Amino acid sequence: MIYQNTLEFAQAQDNNDHLNCYKEQFHQPAIDSEDVLYFAGHSLGLQPKTVRAAIELELDTWAQLGVDGYFSGDTPWVSCCELLTPAIARLVGAKESEVVCMNTLTTNLHLLFASFYRPTKQRYKIICEDSIFPTDRYVLETQARFHGFDPNEVIIEVAPRKGEHLIQEEDILAAITKHGEETAIVFFGGVNYLTGQFFDLNILTKAAHDVGAYAGFDLAHAVGNLPLKLHAWNVDFAAWCSYKYLNGGPANIAGIFINEKHFELPRLGGWWGNDKETRFNMEKHFSPMASAEGWQLSNASVIGVSMLKASLDIFDQVGIDNLREKSINLTGYLEFIINEVIWDRYPIKPLQIITPKEVEQRGCQLSVKLIDTNYNVFNMLSQAGVIIDFRKPDIIRIAPVPLYNSFQDIFYFGEQLRRVLY
Ligand SMILES: *Cc1c(COP(=O)(O)O)cnc(C)c1O
Repeated sequence: MIYQNTLEFAQAQDNNDHLNCYKEQFHQPAIDSEDVLYFAGHSLGLQPKTVRAAIELELDTWAQLGVDGYFSGDTPWVSCCELLTPAIARLVGAKESEVVCMNTLTTNLHLLFASFYRPTKQRYKIICEDSIFPTDRYVLETQARFHGFDPNEVIIEVAPRKGEHLIQEEDILAAITKHGEETAIVFFGGVNYLTGQFFDLNILTKAAHDVGAYAGFDLAHAVGNLPLKLHAWNVDFAAWCSYKYLNGGPANIAGIFINEKHFELPRLGGWWGNDKETRFNMEKHFSPMASAEGWQLSNASVIGVSMLKASLDIFDQVGIDNLREKSINLTGYLEFIINEVIWDRYPIKPLQIITPKEVEQRGCQLSVKLIDTNYNVFNMLSQAGVIIDFRKPDIIRIAPVPLYNSFQDIFYFGEQLRRVLY
């Protein structure tokens, strides 16, 4: 697509965009009754307007039926979680038996590690990216200690080369080969939260399997952002949260993928993972379901499930492939606009996009490094109603989300960026 930095161009793109109507289906945050330019879907997706009614329906059920809500009504609570499964399976490219929504992300990572990380003296290392999200790092550190290992010996970080911002795939593959038979798990953020780099999960999985290790991924920044094919890629396990690109609402129920090969693995159990037929027989022995559902511990928050369901219904209407097609153009437009604006200040380079240029190596987010400028740029953009975020020491993350961002949003972002830079 040939882009132009004009309002007419952006309007024409929006008029031609058959997904543009979905913007209307989300509440648009405002400051002093002025709509903001919202580019923070990487942190918290916007609220679908259908969510309120979905919650009220469950409140009514609770009010009218009390405990009977578990077994009667349109969507009995006992199985409400299953309503999420088909849409989630489509989004991550899994069989329905391989996914379940439960708990929250960090909790789920620990539960997955309980099954997939059982280190021995011979095989105990975990290979990950050096800018791994802090909670993931804490999971790895505490898992290592929990098993009596030294995290410094367990965690092998692959870093960008000197002077670079992105991790080269060949360096990951080299690390996997080097640590080979000592490697228990290759564990990466599918899309790195800081740089927006999308790793080739198929290739990383193959490399992990070649040395006899598991491949697991944190998909917090990938799910709902890019089409995924976890089953076809032969991934062993994955986890994600639902409040970023899935628009499930703050801290709402998360999800996991467990490849069907692994349904027999040992795990930490709870009654909700028990065979549904005998769950309420209150028997002594745990007999887990032979599916990802067998990893559930507790009955899920009905309100949370109803909120996420409202959002997933929209994903099902739109289709992740259509979203991706728009996303590529939208993020391409943001890239073009940022480069246009900074070009005008040549030869001074006030900022630099560090996210990969290749569309297959990124989702919707662009990360921008502040160079010849300072944190004030971020403050000034915020004051002008541009909602983005800042990660120390010098990275701004901007996510144009194809469900509710428009080409005009990006044009106006460019106008604000020019104003604060010049
Ligand atoms: C957002 C995010 C989390 C958040 O974890 P919670 O347990 O939901 O608080 C974890 N990991 C990554 C990579 C994230 O991007």
